[in-house]
Amino acid sequence: MGRGHSRNNIRRRHAKAGVETMSRLWSNSESDEISQNAGTTLIAIAKRNRVRISRRMRMRICRTCKKTLNSKNSKTRIKMKTIVVSCLDCGRVHKYRGGA
Ligand SMILES: [Zn+2]
Repeated sequence: MGRGHSRNNIRRRHAKAGVETMSRLWSNSESDEISQNAGTTLIAIAKRNRVRISRRMRMRICRTCKKTLNSKNSKTRIKMKTIVVSCLDCGRVHKYRGGA
């Protein structure tokens, strides 16, 4: 009884907690450096542990340079129900279909 947790499950739970902490840090931080770091860590944890991060959050992190995308360093356009987010730092264009 009570021994049903595999090691993998525990790891995933830790990863989820890490993602939550990082996302809080990422969205609340006033420092670009901290939020960028949190964003990078967030992606790394999620990738390694196959934890999902919310779409809204994914849309705000550049997949190439891992920077937090905001109104200063990115452009968001909506074309034919596709959200197009361009990173002005590295030029990467992210496309998200079907609205937010
Ligand atoms: Zn970029």
